[in-house]
Amino acid sequence: MKNGNCIFCEIISKNKRNFIYENDNFAAFLDVNPKVKGHTLIVTKKHFVNTFDMPESLGSELLDAIKNVAEKFLKEKDVGGFNILQNNFPVAGQIVMHSHFHLLPRRKNDGFNL
Ligand code: AMP
Ligand code: ZN
Repeated sequence: MKNGNCIFCEIISKNKRNFIYENDNFAAFLDVNPKVKGHTLIVTKKHFVNTFDMPESLGSELLDAIKNVAEKFLKEKDVGGFNILQNNFPVAGQIVMHSHFHLLPRRKNDGFNL
């Protein structure tokens, strides 16, 4: 289901960004304002607000998307690990109210601190 005012629904329905990976229920694309090189968003294709709005049945496809995107970045020899972050509701820093997970490829001395 699409939400008319939602930027991520728009991106997904109109293929507005290059997808790094997709499966039936998730699409992954680069964050427009990256915290580190390769900062990727893994986004539900349907409009859910955040984790607490998502059906549990999507859990395995979410892991599939995370692992496939991570594998692509691991081909870059300086990538040594990842942070997976997610903000739920505005008080926790959620700005785009469409469920998404941040995957941050990490490199030594990349300057990012949680
Ligand atoms: P948050 O809701 O706090 O988890 O963060 C939303 C993220 O979406 C931020 O990191 C933004 O830089 C990113 N973002 C917002 N609009 C776009 C867009 N049009 N394309 C890609 N990333 C976006
Ligand atoms: Zn949406």
